[in-house]
Amino acid sequence: MNNRTDPILYIVIPCYNEQEVLPITAPMFLQKINDLAAAGKISPDSRVLFVNDGSKDRTWEIICDLAARDPHYAGICQSRNRGHQNAVLAGLMEAKSRCDITISIDCDGQDDINAMDAMVDAYRDGCDVVYGVRSKRETDTFFKRFTAESFYKILNAMGAEVVFNHADYRLMSARVLEEFARFREVNLFLRGMVPLVGFKSTCVTYERHERIAGESHYPLSKMLALAFDGITSLSIKPIRFITGFGVFVALVSFIGVLWAVIEAALGLTVSGWASMTSIICFVSGVQLICLGVIGEYIGKIYLESKHRPRYIISDATPNFGEIKEDAQ
Ligand code: UDP
Ligand code: MG
Repeated sequence: MNNRTDPILYIVIPCYNEQEVLPITAPMFLQKINDLAAAGKISPDSRVLFVNDGSKDRTWEIICDLAARDPHYAGICQSRNRGHQNAVLAGLMEAKSRCDITISIDCDGQDDINAMDAMVDAYRDGCDVVYGVRSKRETDTFFKRFTAESFYKILNAMGAEVVFNHADYRLMSARVLEEFARFREVNLFLRGMVPLVGFKSTCVTYERHERIAGESHYPLSKMLALAFDGITSLSIKPIRFITGFGVFVALVSFIGVLWAVIEAALGLTVSGWASMTSIICFVSGVQLICLGVIGEYIGKIYLESKHRPRYIISDATPNFGEIKEDAQ
């Protein structure tokens, strides 16, 4: 399917413990679908698709209630919590054969729903991927803004093509999703993987708001893990850097040896056990870091080699139809 004039849109929304947020934001998503359909931009068969990511609160009950009340709401439920990236993937993969376009968005109201109008317009003008880009991040703390900016800079320096200030608010057409389904990695970093698919793309800017209710599920430790995962799953430059650094250290130590030999030849006492010890400690530390980085890649190979399913759906609302699951 690739219907540009009257596309069926699925808004894919990952939800983890969002019982406070859902009753507020769900009607906003539905309203957006109704408005877009009324304006003749999308088909009235469009849906709001919630992906319950193994929530421990009443999130799934709320989704089922919504779907029972209005057929434009649908939901699928992951068998356990697998994290935001896998939840988005589950929604996209299950939606792709049912619609022409998907828009993935968080359910907490932080990303401006009104940017969807411009996204759909861009699709109707021929774009297959539309990235939502945050114009201002004033609602984020200085620390979050600083770490996020450094992260994008590092990623780009590593050769990965990641759109600056874009998270996972994006439109993707069904044909892009069909191609994307062939990217089989288990370690997901969607915003870095999508640009690799190609096709015509553009950006739409929006302002990021405060979370409507509830709390962020991304504390510093999870953010760092995602950042590290992003870098190591998109680039092998850290390993090249290690090689380069190894050559540099070898050269410096060669100069040191040469110096000691010259000192000895001149009959001088070769001094400096303290500097020797510190150099040994420094080099050992560097070696351990390098081993850690290499270990990270080996760990990734190990995890990827198992070919485990990337998501498992345990339940779906009755109006969603048959579950297709992530084909290998
Ligand atoms: N989320 C999820 N699984 C998780 C953690 C989060 O599906 O394990 C969802 C969450 O419900 C929200 C989105 O991912 O819709 C983004 O999470 P959050 O708002 O906590 O992150 P932040 O915006 O603070 O980075
Ligand atoms: Mg959020």
